[in-house]
Amino acid sequence: PAAPAPPHFVLVPLPAHGHLIPMVDLARLLASRGARASLLTTPVNARRLRGVADQAARAEPKLLLEIIELSFSPARFGLPPDCQNADKIADNTQMLPFFLALRELAAPFEAYVRALVPRPSCIVSDWCNPWTASVAASLGVPRLFFHGPSCFFSLCDLLADAHGLRDQESPCSHHVVPGMPVPVTVAKARARGFFTSPGCQDLRDEAMAAMRASDGVVVNTFLDLEAETVACYEAALGKPVWTLGPFCLVKSNPGVGVSESAITAWLDAQAPGSVVYVSFGSVTRKLPKQLFEVGHGLEDSGAPFLWVVKESELASPDVTPWLEALEARTAGRGLVVRGWAPQLAILSHGAVGGFVTHCGWNSLIESIAHGVPVVTWPHFADQFLNEQLAVDVLGVGVPVGATAPVMILYDDAATTVPVLRGDVARAVLALLGGGEEAERRRKKAREYASKARVAMEKGGDSYEKLTQLLETFGHGGGGEERWNNT
Ligand code: UDP
Repeated sequence: PAAPAPPHFVLVPLPAHGHLIPMVDLARLLASRGARASLLTTPVNARRLRGVADQAARAEPKLLLEIIELSFSPARFGLPPDCQNADKIADNTQMLPFFLALRELAAPFEAYVRALVPRPSCIVSDWCNPWTASVAASLGVPRLFFHGPSCFFSLCDLLADAHGLRDQESPCSHHVVPGMPVPVTVAKARARGFFTSPGCQDLRDEAMAAMRASDGVVVNTFLDLEAETVACYEAALGKPVWTLGPFCLVKSNPGVGVSESAITAWLDAQAPGSVVYVSFGSVTRKLPKQLFEVGHGLEDSGAPFLWVVKESELASPDVTPWLEALEARTAGRGLVVRGWAPQLAILSHGAVGGFVTHCGWNSLIESIAHGVPVVTWPHFADQFLNEQLAVDVLGVGVPVGATAPVMILYDDAATTVPVLRGDVARAVLALLGGGEEAERRRKKAREYASKARVAMEKGGDSYEKLTQLLETFGHGGGGEERWNNT
C-alpha cells in the first residue's frame, strides 16, 4: 500500500508582520518535522513570503512548505487597494473596515480547504481570524488557534474578560485582575489593541467565542520562561496550551529589502556588547515630536546606537533634515536604518548589548532568545503586560517610563504623557552600564537564551511538545479519496 500522506497543517495568519512572521516560522517548524505546511495569506504578503519559502526549500529540499494566495477586496470597504497588511492602515478609522474586509477571505479559504485531498489534519488560525471557526467546524477539521502574545498577557486577557473587566477607562482601572500570578492592573491589561478600536467590540466577542470552540492554542513561548503562567492559562482556558517556541530560533525571519551586509559591517566595527538597537516593531508610528526625543536621547546617552526609523515616520517633511543633522553629529557611533531592518541578524550580533523595544511579543522573545536585555517602551495592546513580564518577573528589562497607552497606530504626544530625551538616555545608560543591576540583567538574559536553545533542541520541552502535537493532530491526512466536498 502507498505510504500515508504526511500530516497537513493549514495556517491562516492575520496579515500583519507581527502575526505573519511567527506563523511563517511555525510553518517552517512543522515542515522541518516532516509535516506539510500550507500558509494562506493575501497576495502582497504571499509574494513577499514565497522568497522565504523558496530559500527554506533550497536549504532543505524535502521541506513541504507552501504559500497560498487568498484574494479579497479592500477597496470594497473604502480602503486603498494595497491595504492588504496591517502596516498599510493609515489611521484608527481604517481598523474596522480592514477587519471587515478580511472576512472576505472566508469564502476562498473554505474553497481551498474543501478542494484538498486528502483531508487536512489541522487548521491553525490566528486569534484575530475568528471567521475560520465556522469553516473548520462545518468541514470537521480540528482547529488550533495561534495567539501571538505572551502567555502572561493571554492569561490576563482571559481572566479580565471572565470578570467582566472590559474597559480600560472604567472606575476599576486601578484594580488588579483576579487570578494572575503577579498583580496586574485592569488599566494595563486593557490597553488599546486592534480589537478595542472603535466598532471592533463585536469582532472581539467573536474571537473569544471562536477561541472557546477551538481544540487548543499554540503560543510562541517556552515553558522555562513562563511556567507558572502556562499552567494557569491551561487551567483557565480548559484546553491544551502548546508552547512550541521561541519560533525565531528556526531562522526564517524575512529580511524584506534591506542590505544586511552593510549593517553587519557597521556592527563588526563596534565593541562587543556596546551597541543599543532601537526599534518599535512594524505597526507603531512616532510623530516627529516624539521621534526627536528618541534621537536626542540616544545622542545624549553617548552610546553607539542602531536606530530603525520607519517609512511612515519619514513622511513628515521636517524629519529627514533633522535626521541627517543627527547622523552628521553622531557619525561613526550612530547608524539610522530607514525602513525595515534585519532584526534577528542584529540581535544575534555580538556588538549588540541592549534593545530599546516597544515590547511587541515577537521583539521581546527574539531579544530574550538571543540573550539581549531590553529597555521597555510599551505603546498599546499586550505591550504593557509584556513590559511587566520583562521587568518584574524575568528581570531582563529597564522601563523607559511610558505610563499611558497611546493611540494604536501612533504615539500622540498631545494625548499622552511623552517620554523625554532624558528618560531615553537614562534608561539606555542603565541598560548598558557596568553596575550590579545591569550585570544581573545581562546574566538573566543569557540564562534565558540558553534555556530557549535547549527547549528547541531534541529532548527539549518545546521540541517534545511539537512531537506530541504531531502525534495528536497528525492523523486525518490519509485515507479518504474525497471528503466533504460535494
Ligand atoms: N521586524 C523586523 N525588522 C523591522 C521591524 C520589525 O524584522 O525593521 C520584525 C521583528 O523581528 C518582529 C516583528 O517584525 O518579528 C515585529 O513584531 P512585534 O510583535 O515585535 O511587533 P508589532 O510589529 O506586531 O507591533
